Order: sequence, then structure tokens, then C-alpha cells
Amino acid sequence: MDIITSIIQKRAKAMADKKAYAEEARRRINAYDAEIAAYNEAISKLNAAASSLICPACHGEGVVKMPGGADKQDTETCSVCKGTGIKLT
Ligand SMILES: [Zn+2]
Repeated sequence: MDIITSIIQKRAKAMADKKAYAEEARRRINAYDAEIAAYNEAISKLNAAASSLICPACHGEGVVKMPGGADKQDTETCSVCKGTGIKLT
């Protein structure tokens, strides 16, 4: 076998290996994308479910700003949810 034929064969193998590697990478990326999409859907459903449970008065914080309170520290326990942050009724 002459040197040119040998190099051409090595090049063909490198190109085939590169193609196989790219296909495997694409397959694995697709699997990660599907997994991430499932997590996103789960998070969206949990957020939607949670939003219906959150106290509308304090938005789930359990505390509200005191009337006339200028400072962020001036808060008091939310009287609507009794500080739970959850819509109780
Ligand atoms: Zn509340």
C-alpha cells in the first residue's frame, strides 16, 4: 500500500469516527433536552398549583408591611393567613 492510499484511508476513518461522535452527542443532547423539558413542565405545574394556595394578602410571605412603616423591617404577621403564607379559606 502506498503512503497516499494509507493516508486517504486514515482520513476516511477519522471522518467516520467524527460523524459517529456527532451523532452520539446529538442523541445525548436530545435526551438531556427531554429531561429538562420534563422538569420545566413539573415546575410549571407545581407553580400553578401552589399559586392557588398562596395567601393573596401577603403573597405567601406570612408578613405584611405595617401601615405607615417606612422601613422594610417594619412588618407584622399577616392576619389573613396567620403568618402561614397559605390561603386558609
Ligand atoms: Zn398572608
